[in-house]
Formats: sequence, C-alpha cells, structure tokens
Amino acid sequence: MYEKTIKFIKELYGNQEFTPLSVPKFIGNEKKYLNECIDTTFVSSVGKFVDRFENDMAAYTGAKKAVVCVSGTNALHMAMMLVGVERGDEVLTQALTFIATCNAISYIGAHPVFIDVDKSTMGLSPDALKAWLENNAEIRNGQCYNKHTGHRVKACVPMHTFGHPVRIDEIANICAENHIELVEDAAESIGSKYKGIHTGLFGKIGALSFNGNKTITTGGGGMLLFMDEELGTLAKHLTTQAKVPHRWEFKHDHIGYNYRMPNINAALGCAQLEHLDEFIADKRATASAYAEYFKYVDDIEFFVEPENSFSNYWLNVVILKDCDAQQVFLQETNDNGVMTRPIWELMTRLPMFENCEHDGLKNTVWFADRVVNIPSSVKM
Ligand SMILES: *Cc1c(COP(=O)(O)O)cnc(C)c1O
Repeated sequence: MYEKTIKFIKELYGNQEFTPLSVPKFIGNEKKYLNECIDTTFVSSVGKFVDRFENDMAAYTGAKKAVVCVSGTNALHMAMMLVGVERGDEVLTQALTFIATCNAISYIGAHPVFIDVDKSTMGLSPDALKAWLENNAEIRNGQCYNKHTGHRVKACVPMHTFGHPVRIDEIANICAENHIELVEDAAESIGSKYKGIHTGLFGKIGALSFNGNKTITTGGGGMLLFMDEELGTLAKHLTTQAKVPHRWEFKHDHIGYNYRMPNINAALGCAQLEHLDEFIADKRATASAYAEYFKYVDDIEFFVEPENSFSNYWLNVVILKDCDAQQVFLQETNDNGVMTRPIWELMTRLPMFENCEHDGLKNTVWFADRVVNIPSSVKM
C-alpha cells in the first residue's frame, strides 16, 4: 500500500539496505578533541572542553549562562529543584512527551498534570493551559493553588516536540500572570527558534539533551540554559557536589549532585557544535523534500514547522488518516528496511501516570493515533 513512499524514503537516503530513524554524524574534530583528552589525561570531571562547551553553547543560543549535565533528564531534575518545585506540588506539562519530562517531576515527589497540545505545534497549548487554570487555579499569598486538590501549582514544563517550537511567548505570559515558574524542555529543539529567539530562553530555565539520537550528541549529556546568570552560577555549584572552591580542602555548603558532564563528553560536544548549523540546514532540506513529496500523497500529511518558528526538524513527522492506517504504515515500512516509529506512548497510558489529572487531551489523543516518525538523519 505504501510502496511508493518506501521507495522515496530509500532513495532520499541513498538506497541503503536499512534506513535508520536518526543516527549521529561525526565529520569534524571529534577524534582530535577526544585524543587530546586522552593524551592530557583530562577525561573526567575537569578539563578545558567543559568550560569551552558551556561558553560556546551560551554564545550559540544567546543564553547568559549554560551549565552542562550528565544527561537531559538530570538537567530537568536540577531545573525542577532550582525553580523551587517541592514534594506534593503540581507541575503542568504535556502527555505527549518522552518519559524523561515526567520522571524529572517525579524525582521531587511532585505530580504532573497533563494539559492538551496544539494541533499546529504538537506541544503544550496556551489556550488549553489558560482554560485549565480558569477552571482549577486560585491565587493565594502570591502562589498558585489547584482549588480542587489543594496542591500548589508550582511550575509548567512545555516541550518543543520533535524540534517544533510551542507558542512559548503566550505560555510565558500565562505563567507570569499565575505565579507559575516556566521551565522549557528543549531537549529536542537545539537550534530551533521562536520569533528569532532560541528555544529554552523564554522560561526561567531551559533544558537540552545531547543523547545519541539528538541533533548533536556528546554520547550522553544535557545542558541547562539561563538568562538569569546568578541562577546559572547556583546550578553550576549544585551540579558539581556544591564544593566550595579551594585548592585542597573539601568543604561543601549544600546537598550537591554529581551531575557534571565529563570532559570527554564535552570534547565531543565542542566538535559537534562546530557543525550544528550545517546539520540543521541539511535536516531542513530533507524536511522540504518530504513536504514536497507528501503534497501529492493521499491520506498522509507531512507536519511542517508552526508559524513564527524556525524548527531544527529533529524528527520528521507524518500524520496518517487514522489509527489503522498508522499501524499498516508502521508494519510496511519496518518490514521493508525503513525504520519508523509511532509517537511515544502517552504518559496517561503508563502505569505510573495513569491516575494523574488531565484536561481531556483531545488533540493529544488525536496525534497519538496518527503520528509516525520517519527517517531524519543528517545526510551530508
Ligand atoms: C531526549 C529527551 C530528554 C532527555 O533525555 P536524556 O536521554 O536524559 O538526555 C528529555 N525530554 C525529552 C522530551 C527528550 O526527548
């Protein structure tokens, strides 16, 4: 049924026997920088690549400060702690996300509340957020509370799904009006911008990921982005065991975390970042080729970047006409050497989160039944 589409994707990727979904690309200084780490013995928690990667990423994104972490997941965990989320609080997020977002909320003992996504972005909807707050929230002593559960609503974590920015300025305004801290899960959206500003800079903190399947990789790794330099400095302290700087003494002034990215991972990141803009240009060209092709295919729609946005097109998305078509498409492509996969199982369908509060999730369920990710690796 989908032979023509399978043929098109295979050709796009040079007719390999197997076309993967997303694999990393190493074409620059990766080996050179890694060798430098080994030759100098600086492979671990100190070394020049850690500072360089943070500075280069701050310059690239426009952040006042960038702090590396061991993973995107612990960057999100640290972000939750830094904005003051506490046990028993509620955190507003989307059910259409990778599990890491909700795991980070859960590490604190806080509870996710799932808000619907926009049809145009696949990410948290400011309209749905506003509606939920109107029905559920009240402000007491300068804090937002859920008047039905009595819990404090401390933070909101929208996610820029597959690299496509959400309507983040509207979300930021709603959060500010309601005394809710905004943390952006920008794990998938490095290089993506909304109204010309890098994703992750609209809230108090943005979290990035450099896992192996992301647009650039450090093997494993993450990063926190700040416009508030002081908060960034505190993050650096807490992610490095809260050690008070001294040449030989071991004094610590907080419960700290060993969340610091090792120098060898940062070395990989420095080399990868040198090619990020080329990677994104290549990915956007692939997305254009897909968009042109799917214009003439009945019953399959290619998802294009939303208004006001510049997307990195991390993972390309097609929307099938219903759940049955989605299953047939997944079966045929994977049977024929073209790797595809459905969107993540909705958080509300997982045992840990199935009893969490949500707003009905109309668009979320619509996407879950139709979305398929198709091959998206950099081709150059
Ligand atoms: C990749 C990703 C993360 C972070 O994952 P790590 O593997 O811990 O770096 C967080 N949130 C989303 C939405 C992601 O896709």
